[in-house]
Amino acid sequence: MQQQTTRRAHNFNAGPSALPLAVLEKAQQELVDFRGTGMSVMELSHRSAAFDSVHNQAIALLRELLSIPNNYEVLFLQGGASLQFSMIPMNLLQPGKKAAYAVTGVWAEKAFIEAELVGDAYLAASTAEGNHKRIPSLDELKYDASDAYLHITTSNTIYGTQWKEFPRTGNVPLIADMSSDILSQPIDVSQFGLIYAGAQKNLGPSGVTIVIIRKDLIENANKSLPTMLRYSTFSESNSLYNTPPTFGIYMLGEVLQWAKEQGGVDVLAKRNAEKTALIYHAIDEGEGFYLGHAERDSRSLMNITFRLKTKELEDKFIKVAEQEGFIGVAGHRIAGGCRVSTYNSVPYESCKAFSEFMTDFRKKHE
Ligand code: PMP
Repeated sequence: MQQQTTRRAHNFNAGPSALPLAVLEKAQQELVDFRGTGMSVMELSHRSAAFDSVHNQAIALLRELLSIPNNYEVLFLQGGASLQFSMIPMNLLQPGKKAAYAVTGVWAEKAFIEAELVGDAYLAASTAEGNHKRIPSLDELKYDASDAYLHITTSNTIYGTQWKEFPRTGNVPLIADMSSDILSQPIDVSQFGLIYAGAQKNLGPSGVTIVIIRKDLIENANKSLPTMLRYSTFSESNSLYNTPPTFGIYMLGEVLQWAKEQGGVDVLAKRNAEKTALIYHAIDEGEGFYLGHAERDSRSLMNITFRLKTKELEDKFIKVAEQEGFIGVAGHRIAGGCRVSTYNSVPYESCKAFSEFMTDFRKKHE
């Protein structure tokens, strides 16, 4: 029988996005009979020993890959990163306290707006003027030692900017939405009070949200919230208070295992830098034809944003790119232009092929 090779698109979607082929193939192979249980992982009870080991293995791998200290809990929640926009102030913004928000894009702003609904939130910085082309410098940030926390968005998915260093906030907990860049580079978890991320970019399919939270923040959180909105509910039940998204957690575990086998976060970071260098090079080499959105020192290693010199050319670029198998090249509907997301699972070869496509397209249309 002739062997059929799987056709895989060059997938630059912003999320849900590419997953490692090896993970998909393993999931396919295990789908009908998961490790001798006679059922798929989706059909297991979430209280069974078989699922317990999937769940705990995913937590252990995340702890290992990010060197998460013991005084932090890893929680698996639902409701996306968007529910965290509300849960964070509900749990951590106590009456009489203020929360500071650095607004560096649409998602950061959404987080800020939710906090304003819950309590007293103010802007630590905003890059709205200039259309979120840059990350504020650390001395630009205004927050106070008495604040409940400072919130930042480490990679701004829509604008393609990324924080290169994080503020040292002392006793003020630093809270980070890392939806777009968790696991893409090494971080020092102890610099943060809370880190959160929807899984659907670097970690797995949509449906699971990861929260890494310092234990004292859980202990001192608002106790009068509805059960499903309290972090303590999930820390006390190992994230098994109610039925978790079992298949998503299984896939998360497999993606983390894959990340470990690749050599861990350091290796992934090096690969990500090489991948994005190819595409940023195509932008810079074609300066004037391609117009990068982010300022150079704020460029994201996960989301690359640019425009073409005319709208007509931009539309053509996106159309031809799609015909050539490059998917997800159109920018977010709010920002327009072009965007490619080069998450951990996007292969080097896809980035190379796309950078060559960019150069070819420019030469034909300059
Ligand atoms: N934060 C960032 C940085 C994002 O990119 C997104 C989604 N693209 C969100 C939050 C919202 O995530 P969710 O759809 O999981 O609620």
